Amino acid sequence: MAPSDTDTAGVFLELEAHYAAHNYHPLPVVLTRGQGAHVFDVEGRRYLDCLSAYSALNQGHGHPRIVAALIEQAQRLALTSRAFHNDRFGPYCRKLCERVGYAKVLLMNTGAEAVETAIKAARRHGYRRKGVAKDRAEIVVFAGNFHGRTTTIVGFSSDPESRDEFGPFAPGFVTVPYGDLAATARAMNPNTVAVLVEPIQGEAGVVIPPEGFLPGLRELCDRHGALLLCDEIQSGMGRAGAWLCHRDSGIRADGVILGKALSGGLYPLSAFAADDAVMEVFTPGSHGSTYGGNPLACAVGEAALDVLADEDLCTRSRELGARVAARLRAIRTSRIHEVRARGLWVGLQLTDSAGPARVYCERLLQQGILCKDTHGHTIRIAPPLVVEERDLEEAAAALERVLAE
Ligand SMILES: *Cc1c(COP(=O)(O)O)cnc(C)c1O
Repeated sequence: MAPSDTDTAGVFLELEAHYAAHNYHPLPVVLTRGQGAHVFDVEGRRYLDCLSAYSALNQGHGHPRIVAALIEQAQRLALTSRAFHNDRFGPYCRKLCERVGYAKVLLMNTGAEAVETAIKAARRHGYRRKGVAKDRAEIVVFAGNFHGRTTTIVGFSSDPESRDEFGPFAPGFVTVPYGDLAATARAMNPNTVAVLVEPIQGEAGVVIPPEGFLPGLRELCDRHGALLLCDEIQSGMGRAGAWLCHRDSGIRADGVILGKALSGGLYPLSAFAADDAVMEVFTPGSHGSTYGGNPLACAVGEAALDVLADEDLCTRSRELGARVAARLRAIRTSRIHEVRARGLWVGLQLTDSAGPARVYCERLLQQGILCKDTHGHTIRIAPPLVVEERDLEEAAAALERVLAE
């Protein structure tokens, strides 16, 4: 089929519909270029990106420092496998350890792989340190969680769309309501090796747990000799206003899972970080990945961390986030049920009578604002942290218009 001038986007939509599995339901916009907080479609229209690839792009599209690191390293050495050492791996691991405050990291590629790494670490740690009987380890997880798409992980999802007809699933996970400490306490027993939690549930719609929940989990884990594992793939790296969101609750997890903005959107890079007592369960041959810890990922990851630090994006996230939240809370409409916000991360939950959030996202698209609905009734707003305040005001004004009665 020949491209036509009149419907440039249509050609791409058709190709995709024809040749690609239909495992997503994107908004009808075909992007071709991005810079900072903005993206451009194939017809030249400019949009404010209020999704940031699910917070992988906290540093903005095509950050020049990260792009330069990528190009330089790609021309020098991209992949060695871990069968050999490379000169980017050690320095990057040190930088990441120092940044997040753990003794060691294990690098993988996608977020789901890092979650799998944490699960393996917790199980082995439980067998070796806690003396749990073989194959009896249990991990407590929370309803509404999103930890990725592998069969083990979707097995403990509570979202039917994610799990239906993908079983049989791995045993060893116990689900309790998010934010419910009493239920968590009841779910824990001598076989519990870990509690796996998102400090804020991103995919569920920026759901913030009650005050005291994370400290309560810390106490329960200490009492039961279980590891507290925080999935900071979306909440970390500045999105919620801190390097690690859970530290704002005055606690320290035994292990954290990182991904997404760890590479500023330039390369798949994820990590599990923990102290030696946990990480020492991994011995040669027990875990790995062909691309994990490759020099290209390390070069990109190093630049991505430097950008977050040098541009003080955590502070920017907190300051801009507070202003946006206040602006959105001031919108007069009966269609908003609740505005949840932490850092530059907003879940705007609509009332049931407002209809599906997707309809509003489609209208926002017409106004040059790219947002993605999550779980039916919530519009998530998570622009790159480098966004300008005037762009946020434009987004808020557009939201006000599309939500007007
Ligand atoms: C996105 C996400 C994942 C999965 O990351 P992938 O790179 O898509 O595998 C896991 N946990 C959380 C909290 C996420 O937001």
